[in-house]
This record gives sequence, structure tokens and C-alpha cells, in this order.
Amino acid sequence: MKAFNYYQSTEIRFGLGRLKEVGEATARYGKKCLLVTVQAVPELEETFKRAKKYLQEAGVEVAHFDGVIPNPTVEVVSQGAKMAKEFGAQVVVGLGGGSSMDTAKAIAVAATHPGSCWDYLFFRPTQPTEKTLPVVAVTTTSGTGSQVTQVAVVTNQAERNKSALYNSILFPRVAIVDPELMLSMPPYITATTGFDAFTHAFESFINPGGSPYTDLLAYEALRIIIKYLPATVKDGSKIENRSQMAWADTLAGLSIANAGVTLPHGIAMAMSGLYPHIAHGQALAAVYPAIMNFSWKYAKEKFARISWLFDPKLKDSSPEEAASALVEHLEKFLKAIGLRKTLKELGVPKEELDLLAERSLVLPDYKSHPYIVNFGEVRQLLQEAYE
Ligand code: NAD
Repeated sequence: MKAFNYYQSTEIRFGLGRLKEVGEATARYGKKCLLVTVQAVPELEETFKRAKKYLQEAGVEVAHFDGVIPNPTVEVVSQGAKMAKEFGAQVVVGLGGGSSMDTAKAIAVAATHPGSCWDYLFFRPTQPTEKTLPVVAVTTTSGTGSQVTQVAVVTNQAERNKSALYNSILFPRVAIVDPELMLSMPPYITATTGFDAFTHAFESFINPGGSPYTDLLAYEALRIIIKYLPATVKDGSKIENRSQMAWADTLAGLSIANAGVTLPHGIAMAMSGLYPHIAHGQALAAVYPAIMNFSWKYAKEKFARISWLFDPKLKDSSPEEAASALVEHLEKFLKAIGLRKTLKELGVPKEELDLLAERSLVLPDYKSHPYIVNFGEVRQLLQEAYE
């Protein structure tokens, strides 16, 4: 068996009604907190009010930064950091989807270090220090796993570039995963976020950098998502479905925090940088079939095992047969959740496919794929995904 490391420092509080613990959990880290959210939409308004009430009841003074946008930008983080500094925040609570939790993490760095959060990306020589404010993450989507990862994804609009801060100091101190908060997600957000969780589990599982530990987590996440995501998209009112998806999202987050992602994420990150209007999970869905189509040959055993989850009868087939069948199962799965779209349908300009291919090979994710593509190969994949 291969040698491996596994690290995770986040305290996970999972279950119905756990939002009410946000005050007590936060108070342990400071009495002045910056609450970081999107601007209240009707579906989230009540959650924000309750969170503030619980924080105040625990004796925590709250300043509310509600400037988060999907695919958060460096400017948004700088505005939040300014507010945190002026208020004297001792702890940051990110309440919402990945965009809100990631903004909270990036603010925790930007409010305590010189420059902007962009100066602390994963490859920079200067990294966030112990001065970084503690973060409590409360997730309202089931997709990014950000509540249990050391990653904060940010977009630099001027450079049309999306990248990430990645440092153990960014693991939230506490993750509150309360499936009740996900009941209000509309079907499209349920689908895009749920498919994001699928890709985290998938890419951790096929990642040569994975381990027996992450395989365990990722495979269980895949099993749950394949079983529950289509039903949850169809009817998001069932708390059991929401609970299963919230748990799968958390498992998938624990997996990527230790195994990492692969080629699809390199492409989807480049897409978000260039076309921020495309939801992260939708960007992934657009390129997945084309990537699967060539990739199964390079990790047959792993692909075959994932195929078994779609069709247990494939256990009787050869690894080749089972692995290659995954492409078709995935296509059906994407259709069932309403995400089978081409790059053309998503508004990606054909004349920018070269640029997109170039940008897809900037983050190191593609080097963790079972087969390492070159520019020509990724350009060909994008062509296939285009129409
Ligand atoms: P999001 O946070 O961008 O939210 C999408 C939309 O859903 C927003 O408009 C939001 O207001 C709405 N929403 C959220 N919860 C809701 C609820 N319960 N009811 C109704 N509406 C709700 O979406 P996301 O997919 O969770 O996050 C995407 C971001 O996370 C991207 O920037 C992506 O790159 C990043 N990401 C981070 C990690 C990580 O480990 N840090 C991993 C994957 C992706």
C-alpha cells in the first residue's frame, strides 16, 4: 500500500438545526465578527437574520458585509477587508455558498496582511501567516466543500483570471453543515453545485495523488451523489435528499483538500476567469463528457469502479467495458440534472478557444490528471465541447 498523509483541522458540526450553534462556535474565537454574505435574496433573508440573532445572543458583536458576488473578485475581498479592519473584527463568519465562504477566507488574509488577497495566491513566495483571522464557515449550498478546505478561489477581473489562495491556515476552524439551509436552493443552483461536488469526488478518486483514505471518502461521495442528485434537483423539498447531498459535498471537500483536483478544474477555472457569468458547476459539466471520453483509458480500474455505481451489472464486465461505459452514463446523468450544455450555448466565443486552451494549462491541476494533456490536446477537447 502506498504511503500517504491526510490532514484536516476543521471541526465539523453536521445536522439539522445546527445553525443555532453559530454564536457559541464563533464566540470561542472572538467577540467581534464580520459576517460575510451575498446581498439578501428572499430565499436567504431568514437565514441571515437567524445567524445574526444567534451571534448576538452569544455576545458577539456583528458587522455585516453583504457585498459577495458569485465568483468573488479581488475588489470585493478588498472592500470586505476594509470593513473588517475598521470594525476591528477578530473572527470572520462566511455564510452562504462557496463564494461567500471563500470571500470570508480571503478577507481573513487581506484584513491582516499588506497588499490584496491576490498577493497571497498559492504559488506566491509570500504566504498568509498566523495573523490570518479565524474563519467559521456555514454552507448554504451542497457543492464546493469550501467549509472543509484550505482553498479560497478569487477572480481578478482586470486580468480575466481566476486563481486561488491555498494554505492550511485557511481551513475554517468550524464548519456548520445544516441541511435545512439548503432547502431554499432553486433547481439550477442545486444542479450546478451538486455537480461540482460530483467532480470533486471524481477528480480526487482518479487523481494519482489520492490515497486509500481519500478514495474512501470520494467513492462514498460519488455513490451518494449519483443516487440523490437527480431526485434533489427534481424536488428540493425533501430534507433526507438535502441531508445526503450536504454530507456528500462535505466528503468530497475533505477529499479535494487532500487529493486535489485534475484537468476539468483547470479548464473550468480558466472559463470562470474569462466568462464569470457561467456557474462553476455548469462550466465543469460542459467539458466533462469530452474529457471522460479520452481519459477512461488511463485509469481503467478507477473508471470501472465509478461505472459500477451507475450500473452494478457492469461488475460482471471487463474493466475496459465498464470504464468506457462511464461516458454514456455521465451524459445521461447530466441530462437528468439539466446541465448537458455546449460551450457555444454557454456563450463562449469560438475565437477565444485558443486563449481558453492556453489558460487551462496555467493552474497545476491538469498535471494531476491520469494523462497529462498538451496544448493541442486540450484545444481539441474544447472543440468537442463547443458544439
Ligand atoms: P455561490 O456561492 O456562487 O452561490 C450561487 C448562487 O446561489 C448565489 O446567487 C447565491 O446567492 C445563491 N444561493 C446560495 N445558497 C442558497 C440557498 N440556500 N438558497 C437560495 N439561493 C442560494 O455558489 P457555489 O457553487 O456554492 O460557489 C461557487 C464558488 O466557489 C466559485 O467561485 C468556485 O470557484 C468556488 N469553489 C471553491 C472551492 C473551495 O474549496 N474553496 C471549491 C470549489 C469551488
